Amino acid sequence: MVRKKDDWYQYAGAVHIHTTESDGTRTLEEVVAIGREVGLDFMMFCDHMTLSNRKAGREGFYGKTLVVVGYEHNDLQDEHHYLLFDSPRVYPPEMTAAQYVAAGAGDGALGILAHPDEIRKALKDHPAYPWKDWSVVGFDGIELWNQMSEWMEKLTRWNRLLMAFSPRKSMVAPTARILKRWDDLNKTGKCVGIAGTDAHAFSFKVGPLKVEIFPYKVHFRSLRCYILLREPLSRDFPAARRQLYDAIRDCRLFFANVRWGEADDFEFFADNGSRRAVCGGELPWEKGLVLRVKLPSPATLRLVHNGEKILETHSHELEYQVPAPGIYRVEAFKGKRGWIFSNHIRIGR
Ligand SMILES: [Zn+2]
Ligand SMILES: [Zn+2]
Repeated sequence: MVRKKDDWYQYAGAVHIHTTESDGTRTLEEVVAIGREVGLDFMMFCDHMTLSNRKAGREGFYGKTLVVVGYEHNDLQDEHHYLLFDSPRVYPPEMTAAQYVAAGAGDGALGILAHPDEIRKALKDHPAYPWKDWSVVGFDGIELWNQMSEWMEKLTRWNRLLMAFSPRKSMVAPTARILKRWDDLNKTGKCVGIAGTDAHAFSFKVGPLKVEIFPYKVHFRSLRCYILLREPLSRDFPAARRQLYDAIRDCRLFFANVRWGEADDFEFFADNGSRRAVCGGELPWEKGLVLRVKLPSPATLRLVHNGEKILETHSHELEYQVPAPGIYRVEAFKGKRGWIFSNHIRIGR
C-alpha cells in the first residue's frame, strides 16, 4: 500500500517473477491474484526469452496493482542472465552478454544483472548461472539478492525436506562479495541494487513426496522492493510504468526480507536543515549535514561509506554527522539475517 513520507510516495512490489510462459507454474493472471492478495503495489514479470505476456496485452493495472512485463535474457551457454524491461523486443539468442547489454542500453531499456553471484556446489543437477563477464558495461543495476538462488545454494541432499517445508528459513543476506562489487560500481556512477524473488513455484521431489517449493505467496511475503516517487503513481498505465522504471534506474529504492518484519516504515535520508535527499539522491557536503535512519523496530544497523562499514549499532534509529563526501548506504540485520538494505545517498564535494 502506498505510504506518504515527507515529500515522497512509497510503493512496495516484487521483481523477477516467472509464469507458465516459461518455467513458472502459474499464469500471469493467477500470480497477479496472489500478489494482490498480499498487497503488492507493483509486480515485475520476466519470463525466459519471451515477451509473450506483454504481446498478449497483459500489462496494466489489476485493481491498484501495477503489472509490467519484461524478460530474462541468457546467452547460448545459458549464462549471463539479464533482466530487461522496456526493451522493444527479445534480442537474438546468439548475442553475447556484452552485445545484449549494449542493445538494451541503446534502446533505452532498463537492464539488471540477474543473480550474478550464484554459487551452487552441492547439487550436480542444479548448476549455477552466475555473471562471469565483468568487463561488460552499460547495465543499470544488479540483483544483489535472489531468493531462489540463495535457497538452491544452501540445498544439499540431506536437508531437502527441511528446506522444502520452511523455505524462508534459509534466507540470510546478499553476499559480501557482491555488495563490494556493487559499492565499487557506485563510486563512478549510479547502479541500482535490487532484490529479486525469481518466483517459479517449482515442485521438487523429496523422496516419495512432491513438494511445491516457494509457492508464489511465500515469495511475495519475503523479498520486496520499495520505490520512492515524487508524485503518486499515475493511473495512466504508460505513465505509471515510466515512473516505476525511472525510480529504479535512479536508485530511489530499498529492499527487505519482510519475513523478519514489515519494512514500510523504514526511512533513510540526508538532511542539511533545509533540504533532504533519499536513496538515489544527492546533497553537497557541508558542515551540519546529517544522515538519519529509522527502522520499524530495533535491529543491528550498519552504515557503509564508500564500501566500508563505518558504524554498527543496535537501535531503531540513528542520526550521524556526515564526516566526508562519498556514497552512503545502510543495512539492517535481525541477528544474522539480512532485513533491510538501502541504495546509496551521494554526498558531493
Ligand atoms: Zn535466471
Ligand atoms: Zn529467473
